[in-house]
Amino acid sequence: MDYREEMKQLRDRLNDAGYRYYVLDDPDLPDHEYDRMLRRLEELEAEHPKEITPDSPTQRVGGQALDSFTQVEHPVPLESLQDVFSQAEVEEFAQRMEEALAEVSYSVEPKVDGLSVALEYRDGEFVRGATRGDGRVGEDVTENLRTIRSIPMVLPEKLPRLIVRGEVFMPKNVFRKLNRQREELGEPLFANPRNAAAGSLRQLDPKICAKRLLDIRVFNLQLAEGREFASHSESIDYIESQGFRTIPHKVLSSASAINAEIVRLGDSREELPFDMDGAVVKVDDLSDRGRVGSTAKCPRWAIAYKYPPERKPSKVREIVVQVGRTGVLTPKVVVEPVRLAGTTVTNATLHNQDFIEEKDIRVGDTVILQKAGEIIPEVVEVCKDLRPENTEPYRMPAACPVCGAPVVRDPDGAAVRCTGAECPAQLHRNLTHFASRDAMDIDGVGPAVMLQLIEKDLVHNPADLYFLTEEQLADLERMGKKSAKNAVAAIQASRSRGLERLLFALGIRQVGQKAGKVLAAHFQTFDALSEATEEELTAIDDVGGITAAYIREWLESPQSKHLIGRLKEAGVSMEAAEQPAGEQFKGMTFVLTGALQRFTRDEAAALIERRGGKASTSVSKKTTYVVAGENAGSKLRKANELQIPVLTEDQFAAMLEDGE
Ligand code: AMP
Repeated sequence: MDYREEMKQLRDRLNDAGYRYYVLDDPDLPDHEYDRMLRRLEELEAEHPKEITPDSPTQRVGGQALDSFTQVEHPVPLESLQDVFSQAEVEEFAQRMEEALAEVSYSVEPKVDGLSVALEYRDGEFVRGATRGDGRVGEDVTENLRTIRSIPMVLPEKLPRLIVRGEVFMPKNVFRKLNRQREELGEPLFANPRNAAAGSLRQLDPKICAKRLLDIRVFNLQLAEGREFASHSESIDYIESQGFRTIPHKVLSSASAINAEIVRLGDSREELPFDMDGAVVKVDDLSDRGRVGSTAKCPRWAIAYKYPPERKPSKVREIVVQVGRTGVLTPKVVVEPVRLAGTTVTNATLHNQDFIEEKDIRVGDTVILQKAGEIIPEVVEVCKDLRPENTEPYRMPAACPVCGAPVVRDPDGAAVRCTGAECPAQLHRNLTHFASRDAMDIDGVGPAVMLQLIEKDLVHNPADLYFLTEEQLADLERMGKKSAKNAVAAIQASRSRGLERLLFALGIRQVGQKAGKVLAAHFQTFDALSEATEEELTAIDDVGGITAAYIREWLESPQSKHLIGRLKEAGVSMEAAEQPAGEQFKGMTFVLTGALQRFTRDEAAALIERRGGKASTSVSKKTTYVVAGENAGSKLRKANELQIPVLTEDQFAAMLEDGE
């Protein structure tokens, strides 16, 4: 067979299988067959790149990463909806419509909680997809939308122009899996599927978006050149015939039937793959819609009914405290299991001590629970009249429930943290930070490897990394012999990074890269630092009182002492890598201006700092010398005004030589 013909046949078969799988939910091709055919198509496309067509299933993830999204004007605006919160308001809406129009039928549909997008086709080919933005101007996210398998790339009917509107969402099971993975890797979690979908659709690299497995349901025909429809439901049937997956709708004609359908939809939300944040009621006849028109913001012919969040009482069995990866202690209530908005709830977060105190939640209390954003259970209120006798106000523990180290409250917030340098709850985060580029810079030992090392019980603190053998590392998943060898070499090489980086790597609160450098420059060795009092620490430029207190507290903790002992045993350098600053320019401030011939400004500044001086960018009374190169301007004038001594470049260079 001609290769062109074979490529076409493969494309058609794969696209049809994709349609059955992603749109109809009715797969007919076994996975391995699909993969085999896709591989063959990829082979042929590699041999004949000119024959790649836009509808090839291989083109769904091929797009280049972008620098930014471009703006797109919507030819038909993407309108908002008027919210209503009760069945009575639904009845009023129906009444209003019936007064304005003769006989009315309505389409009732779930309101998918995702992101609205417009998909545009020219001559039957997908050319552009854009987010809603403010309804008139959105962002071009075409490449990301291509990765959504239920969006057809080519339509059977080639209308000159067709625009449909749909809701992009992250399926609930994908969301749960994604958050589980992120939790394992210590990455921040998405609050709900909507945020996850929004974050994914706004990725500049479509390959990332492709991994997020987004889906879409189309709910409106925005524009169809060359086609006329009498009603919304007719247009939805047409959209479906073009290969889109649509939002299911029911056509009904009385307020009571609408309300019954709203209740039915509410009860079915558990079975839906997407989150539903309401039900939409729309006049079905398109000319009727034209008759009632729109306000500035919303159509008058539709409303969105918002379900009240379900609330249930339950009894507090105990209050437990979890320690997060950053060491923050989060209290939770454990309650008697209760069915709430589709799942069985056994606990709810209490955020922090302030929240507990404000609500005065006690063990034995009956509390009212609700799900925030339909996902995370929370306590709305305490039924104080049901409180048993002899209950006591709750207090957060003074020691970490995981490692026993003392806890401290953040000076600027309500969070309470564990101070344990080896606390198992924080181990993954501490290890990842320790190995990161700006800290000990251990290449090839990333978050996923760290996770396995913890699970296999091979490391209990960052120092344990230095005792790992090649065999132990080679045993890990996705770690061959060669990468294990490289990893051990990288770990060993990191021993000589110096005190500057080590102090930052230890994760002492408030000790960032800069403080690491300042402390190392001042003390030169870890032992000298460990003997410094809080006052001595505070006296150092750039070290504040709070930081000094954190450093002392860290140095005193038994876990820190153990960790330092192990690091020394491993041969990790406890000395500053950089020489101490000289004394020649101590207390002097230099300002550089004009073009210097022998050094760049940065080089000159470094030479000054190495001699204990400061390089500043503005001239003031405190300036000791101004070094003026060629074409010096306003700074030189200012120096003369303030009578600050001015040095030529030669004089400056001579001073430097004198000090050598
Ligand atoms: P709001 O943004 O709260 O005014 O709600 C309107 C939004 O609901 C629209 O922008 C759509 O993105 C979304 N939506 C979800 N499902 C539907 C639906 N079946 N019909 C109309 N809009 C929907």
